[in-house]
Amino acid sequence: MTALIYIDPLAIHPVIDGTWHRARLTAIPEPGQGITMLCGATGAAAFEPLERRRDHGAPTTCFECEAVYMREHGMPVPTSHPGFKARPIRRRP
Ligand SMILES: [Zn+2]
Repeated sequence: MTALIYIDPLAIHPVIDGTWHRARLTAIPEPGQGITMLCGATGAAAFEPLERRRDHGAPTTCFECEAVYMREHGMPVPTSHPGFKARPIRRRP
């Protein structure tokens, strides 16, 4: 019998060196699978229980990922935003 655990891929915010990022995930990555963040950072997927997220201090926000995410969702990025200069989204025509 299968015990399904439902996870929202949009709620996955990978942490690299104490900074949490956003990625365009449509499914849960396999352990070790390479993930590219919205800001271009890359890392291999690894999993830990949520309670360990702050073992080395609270992760900080990747403002470049945040700016890209805001643009993708039609939210204006204020010029005062730390990620304002993040590269624009490259959309296919
Ligand atoms: Zn990022």
